[in-house]
Amino acid sequence: MVAMERADSLLSNIKKKKAPNRRYFYAKGVSKTKIFIDAGHNDSGWNTGAVGNGLKEQDITFAVAKKLSNLLTARGLTIKLSRSTKETNLGTNNSSAINARYNMANEWGADYFISIHCNAGGGTGTETLYYKSDSLNYATTIQDAFIKAMKLRDRGIKYRNNIGVIMHTKMPAILIELAFIDTGADALVLVNKQDDMAAALAAGFYELLGMEAEEVTQEQFESMYAKMIAKGKGDNPSTWAKKICEAAKDAGIFEGDGSGNYNWQDPVTREALASVLKNAGIF
Ligand SMILES: [Zn+2]
Repeated sequence: MVAMERADSLLSNIKKKKAPNRRYFYAKGVSKTKIFIDAGHNDSGWNTGAVGNGLKEQDITFAVAKKLSNLLTARGLTIKLSRSTKETNLGTNNSSAINARYNMANEWGADYFISIHCNAGGGTGTETLYYKSDSLNYATTIQDAFIKAMKLRDRGIKYRNNIGVIMHTKMPAILIELAFIDTGADALVLVNKQDDMAAALAAGFYELLGMEAEEVTQEQFESMYAKMIAKGKGDNPSTWAKKICEAAKDAGIFEGDGSGNYNWQDPVTREALASVLKNAGIF
């Protein structure tokens, strides 16, 4: 019942807050897909990343990877990070640091692998690298979702045959270069828009997995929640009626709605009553 009361207060809070430009999203389904998120580079020592504008690539890749992990976990996906903390260093030299990333993903049995990096060399914009043909659609979906949300220059998706993490992973694998750490305007995005970048990547995964959030009107949103709450309520009979409801269910007198819901506290229509009387052997 506590859950029910919380749901009720959630609904009344939703109704109270009528901010003029509030947008409502209804999230479709969740997925148990396993996604391995590789925060590119090590914190210190070997395999550290590019630097520019006072920023270190490995700090940005870890921050965005962690935020992406939180978003996807909240939607029911199973996530593993290559670096579990910002200070984590993988391997014992440059090449074993790369091997550790794809070995972890392969051993864990990830469904998708994403390696997050920042570009360097004075360009601008975002590109997504892939190697295997099974990663082409994945690369396109993530790149497009990222560009659509972040409005950075679209450098496209690129085939690359010299990057260990996208070549030796057994599952579809991509490496995204978010933006250029050594170009002023891009660096500002890398440092100030980490939440937006994580959300943009998450949106790409929702699309890839058919989990997009659909924008709805406030009225639709409230009615969806009201229905969910009413459904939950109706399925729990009052304490005094629990036994008789279970017995009626076991005897096949009430048939439920076919999805396992009996809606015990709903009013009875004439058609439902007719079927109950029939099931009870009255006629
Ligand atoms: Zn890098």
